[in-house]
Amino acid sequence: MSQTPSRPPRIGFFGGTFDPPHTGHLALASLALQTLDLDKVLVAPVGLQPLKLGRPATPYRDRLAMTRLALAGHPRLELSEADAPRPDGLPNYMIDTLRRLRAPLPPDAQLYVICGADAFLNISLWHRPSDLLMEFPFIIGARPGFDLGRIANALPDDISVASDDHPDPQLLTLGLRNRHGRRSRLYLLPQLQHDISATELRDALHSADPNPSLLPQAVLAYIRDHRLYRNGTP
Ligand code: ATP
Ligand code: MG
Repeated sequence: MSQTPSRPPRIGFFGGTFDPPHTGHLALASLALQTLDLDKVLVAPVGLQPLKLGRPATPYRDRLAMTRLALAGHPRLELSEADAPRPDGLPNYMIDTLRRLRAPLPPDAQLYVICGADAFLNISLWHRPSDLLMEFPFIIGARPGFDLGRIANALPDDISVASDDHPDPQLLTLGLRNRHGRRSRLYLLPQLQHDISATELRDALHSADPNPSLLPQAVLAYIRDHRLYRNGTP
């Protein structure tokens, strides 16, 4: 679906628990797609999120089914099972998933990580955060009112902010550099208007139907059919 057939592929990877998927997720994936002119975004529910091990999630098959429903009508947002539960029962680490996804792509393909600013603030706790940041440019979307200065403060100790050699004047970017002089970049999307989280939705769902602007209606129907979130968090 790329407009310029000869152009190297540009693919976004958007992982999350998606418990449940909501319009904030769709807004971030769509904005990243548009702003960075991506060919597609792979939306990948995570089997076992390493930083949420203590918190039970809705079964993967339900989160996958809800995410499939949420993406209907968004042809360039593609459901991905790249982060399906691992057969060995270990958590899914994003760097492993991304390296596996990149392996079969042409060498000039660009694979971007899409995430929300709140998730990025924990980047230092992720598995091998410096390698991840150096190998894959991040696209970071902020909820309303988020102070983007906090992004630079959240970087792992061995990564510093550096001047960006090829800044795109249309985009808000932050150049990065590691101790060996290797460079990478973050793209910042400060204009997301959907102040909504899955946690709030789960809590709201056990009493009433949430505002239709928060959740695709097909996802709400699935939740009701399968009697999910009847006590808030699964
Ligand atoms: P929870 O409240 O359970 O943490 P969540 O709504 O944050 O759920 P996740 O599955 O944790 O959803 O999020 C997946 C990704 O989507 C994360 O990178 C998160 O920062 C981002 N995200 C979630 N909600 C929004 C939103 N309203 N606007 C922008 N990004 C969002
Ligand atoms: Mg979250």
